[in-house]
Amino acid sequence: MSPKKTAPVGERLPYLLGKLKTPRVLERLEQTAATAREEGWPYEQFLEVLLEAEVFARDASGSRNRIRHAAFPAHKTLEDFDFSAQPAAEKPLIFHLAQLAWTAEHKNVCFFGPPGTGKTHLAIALAIKACQAGHRVAFATAQQWIDRLEQAQHRNALDSELRRLERYSLLIVDEIGYLPLERQAANLLFALVARRYERGSIIVTSNHGFEAWGEILGDAMVAAALIDRLIHHAHIITLKGKSYRLRERGTAAAPAAEIQPVGLRPTT
Ligand code: ADP
Ligand code: MG
Repeated sequence: MSPKKTAPVGERLPYLLGKLKTPRVLERLEQTAATAREEGWPYEQFLEVLLEAEVFARDASGSRNRIRHAAFPAHKTLEDFDFSAQPAAEKPLIFHLAQLAWTAEHKNVCFFGPPGTGKTHLAIALAIKACQAGHRVAFATAQQWIDRLEQAQHRNALDSELRRLERYSLLIVDEIGYLPLERQAANLLFALVARRYERGSIIVTSNHGFEAWGEILGDAMVAAALIDRLIHHAHIITLKGKSYRLRERGTAAAPAAEIQPVGLRPTT
């Protein structure tokens, strides 16, 4: 009688792990099993070590994907923000915001201040923390959001576009007030903020305080209604001082071109 042929132990594991789509477990299997045998690990420890490798790798690639998808104009982190150069950004508050309790509560953050004081930097840095914590994030300038919503409106799909944006926990609306807006554009910006009110978070940045938004949006009522929803639950941080860009270049003088006055509307 010939001995019954048995498959070597674990022969089907590559197939099964492939089915489960756990490539990191497969990669580490042989080495981890050898270590486990050598060191006499309990079964639970062996499984834990393998699964941990898979979960860590998935988390990392998930946050990489979310950061890529958010379309940040540059990669800026809290770690490379020089807080001593910008005392108006109180480090404990910014690090508290990096814990992201506010996104869970659908609150907003507004960064104000002159050009080059770090508004966009801090907005991106907080948003990267949100990506790392598993949130879906999208970055665009106010004008880019308006263009996107205008296109949706032309397709008769504004509502579904706004609904689609609800899938993001955090939107960044950069540079409100860089240029004054047409009435239609201001209405779209209002629609965006109103739709997210108590449903999702926004970070806005602006070179101009709220007092100038009536002029920027071309309508004091729309501005008041928008600001009302934006700041009902919001952290407001006003940065100060000279442009960090100029500081880096070692010159204190601000070029006139960098400061964009709002009052571009004809008064007649
Ligand atoms: P703003 O949006 O206020 O116009 P940015 O955030 O774009 O300014 O900052 C301009 C440049 O200076 C960016 O490259 C930014 O990373 C850098 N920067 C500004 N403030 C700081 C800071 N305190 N520490 C490090 N880099 C800074
Ligand atoms: Mg900016």
